[in-house]
Amino acid sequence: MMRRYLFLAALACAAGTIAVAQTPTAQQSSGALGARPGSSREPEFPAPSIRDYKPRSTLVVSEHAVPRARFPVVDIHSHQPRPISAAQLETVVAAMDRLNLKVLVNASGATGDRLVQSVEALRDSPHRNRMVMFANISFRDVGSGFGVKAAQQLEVDVKAGAVGLGEIMKSFGLRTKKADGTRLALDDPELAPIWETSARLGIPVLIHTAEPQEFFEPIDYRNERWLELALYPRRRYPAGEFPRFEDLVTERNRLFRAHPNTTFVVAHFGWHANDLGRLGALFDELPNLYAETGAILAELGRQPRAAHEFFVKYQDRLLFGKDSFQPDEYPYFWRTFETADEYFDYYRDYHAFWKLYGMNLPDEVLRKLYYQNALRLIPGLQPIVSS
Ligand SMILES: [Zn+2]
Repeated sequence: MMRRYLFLAALACAAGTIAVAQTPTAQQSSGALGARPGSSREPEFPAPSIRDYKPRSTLVVSEHAVPRARFPVVDIHSHQPRPISAAQLETVVAAMDRLNLKVLVNASGATGDRLVQSVEALRDSPHRNRMVMFANISFRDVGSGFGVKAAQQLEVDVKAGAVGLGEIMKSFGLRTKKADGTRLALDDPELAPIWETSARLGIPVLIHTAEPQEFFEPIDYRNERWLELALYPRRRYPAGEFPRFEDLVTERNRLFRAHPNTTFVVAHFGWHANDLGRLGALFDELPNLYAETGAILAELGRQPRAAHEFFVKYQDRLLFGKDSFQPDEYPYFWRTFETADEYFDYYRDYHAFWKLYGMNLPDEVLRKLYYQNALRLIPGLQPIVSS
C-alpha cells in the first residue's frame, strides 16, 4: 500500500502537480488509496507528496544561528535591476546591513547606455560604494569581426565604470547560435579579443557554464536532482537536443587554457562542487581560475570535512557569491561556513533533500572567501571595503 502511495505521489510530481492530494481523490474515495476496499471510510491521512514529508528531527545538538557574517562580505554574483532605483537600492542596502554584506556585484551586467545609466544611478546615490556593475555582452549572431567590436565596446564600458565582465550566462555554450546558425562554442576563436581585452584591462570574467550534471542525465529515480527536474522539467537538457555536460566542460577548460592572462571566475563552482577533486585539479593546472559559491551550498554542506580541507587548500581561489538576492537565505551560508553545527536544514527542498553540516572554516579562510580575494580581483574595490 505504501509503495503504491509513493508511486502515485511520484507520478503527480512528475506531472508537475506537486502539491498533491490534500483532499481525497476520486480513486481514494472509491477505496483505491487509503481506505480498505469496499469501505466508504475516508483515508486516515491524505496521500502524501514527497514534498510534504518533512520529518521533524529529534536530534538534540547545539545550534548556532548566524544572522550576520563574521566578516564583511563582497557578493560577486548578485542580480539587481539595471539601473536600480533609489527606492530599490534603499531596500537592498538595508538588508545588506543586517547580513554584513558590504558590496554587491551586479552580475546581471549591462553595456552601452544602459551600463552608463546603471553606473550613474549608483554614483548619484547615498550608497555609491555598496554596489558595482559588471559589463555584459550579447553573444547572439557571432560572425566575422564580432570579437573585435565587442572588445572595443567592453573597453568603453570599463571606462564608463564597469569593473568586470559577466555574468556570462549558461545560454553561451548551451543554446546560443552563431550568425551561420551553428552553435557558438565556448572556445570559438572569434571571441578571443574579448578575453584578451579583459586581461589587458585587468578585469575578471564571471562565467556560468552548463548546469548541474544531473540535469543532463535521464530523469529517473536514480537521478539525484529528480525532484527539482520533476518540479521544473524545463531545466533538463536531454541528449540529442543539447551538448553534453562533459562537452561543455571540455570546451570551457580549453577556453581557460587558451587565455592564461585572463582571470576567469567559474560561477557555481563550475558545477564541480560534488567533485571537489576535479575542481582542485583545474585550480592546480590553471592559475587564472577562481570559483564562486552560488547555489552549491548543499553540495558543500553534505561533505563538511572534505569541503573544509578544500577551502583551506584553495583559500586564495574562492569567492563568495550567492546569485539570487534572497536576504533570508544568506544566513544558511554563514552558518555552513562558520560553524560546526550538525544536521540542519538547507533553504530549498528541491536542491537537496539532505541536511547540512557546518564546515567550521578558520577566520583566515573566511576573510579571503568573504572579501579579500574579491578585493584582489575586482579593480577599485579596495577603498570601498576598507572605508
Ligand atoms: Zn547568475
